Amino acid sequence: MSMSNTASPEVTLAAVGLSRRYGNNLAVDDVSIELKRGEIVGLLGPNGAGKTTAMKMITGNLAPSAGSVNVCGIDLIDKPTAAKAKVGYLPEIPPLYKELRVDEYLRLAGRLHRLKQSALSDAVERAKRRTGLSDMGRRLIGSLSKGYQQRVGIAQAIIHDPDVVILDEPTVGLDPNQIREIRSLIRELGNEHSVILSTHILPEVEAICDRVQILHRGKVVFTDAISGLRAFRGGHSLQVSLRRPPETEELSSAIEPARAEKLSEGVFRIISQPNQDVTNQLLRASLDHDWGLYQLLPAQASVEEVFVQLTRQDATGEDGGQAATTNTAPAETVA
Ligand code: ADP
Repeated sequence: MSMSNTASPEVTLAAVGLSRRYGNNLAVDDVSIELKRGEIVGLLGPNGAGKTTAMKMITGNLAPSAGSVNVCGIDLIDKPTAAKAKVGYLPEIPPLYKELRVDEYLRLAGRLHRLKQSALSDAVERAKRRTGLSDMGRRLIGSLSKGYQQRVGIAQAIIHDPDVVILDEPTVGLDPNQIREIRSLIRELGNEHSVILSTHILPEVEAICDRVQILHRGKVVFTDAISGLRAFRGGHSLQVSLRRPPETEELSSAIEPARAEKLSEGVFRIISQPNQDVTNQLLRASLDHDWGLYQLLPAQASVEEVFVQLTRQDATGEDGGQAATTNTAPAETVA
């Protein structure tokens, strides 16, 4: 896929053309993901987009219908044991045994990852240190808060010091403090490991990740650095307030191809097309129709609007310099 460049950081994971069919349902459709050392990539998408299915294939827990996965130069299908040794996985539902103590459970996880008996104690201490569990070794997992249980889930994923860490919806079900802690923990992991995390929460991707891949119905519809995602969100949405507002349809037709959504009386969200100067159109229309425009604010598109924007366009507008997986990101978002 991408050109080899000796100066760029080491590629730890290369998943190419992954597809997975369930009966007639193509749950994952030609998805490619490349990950470099020290990079955190977010897989963002609504429920059913194919995130979990993609992650299961990358971790060797599910056979792809097509495509290949290479971890640190090792092919997952040719050498599953060697490749899997380099991957740590936190599934959506963490595989915790609540009746075990943290130390017991992490030793078990280490043995499942084929760590040598002599290396186990050090591995458990290191994983606990990195997840803030150093004082929790004697605690029963079932007695820990949900946030701490999630730390244990992450500790088992890194017990064998893998190069690539895959986290499926790591903050789901946590309270805001726990979410903050887990996010900062993941960022720290990203210093030494490569991390892929899945989420359906857009601010989560912006808070943690270096890069984002947006999945929609099994396909990658957007790949870019987080700065590109921010530009995309901010570039196409405005909030306008009018003293003498027209009907929403009338407003929409005055600013085509942008469209208006009514937020409250006299307040609309304007979702514009890339390259459209909607501000001038709005100002002119307001003067022409005497709508009494008194406020115009940049607005960040919500995750739903981002999906609408991305999935409305055909697979055109490809720009150079992006990962081969980029499909429909408009050229202007390419930083
Ligand atoms: P996400 O993680 O983004 O919510 P999933 O990967 O779980 O998405 O699901 C993608 C699609 O594949 C959905 O349509 C889902 O219904 C389907 N799917 C997932 N697992 C199975 C399965 N074991 N059998 C049949 N269909 C499945």
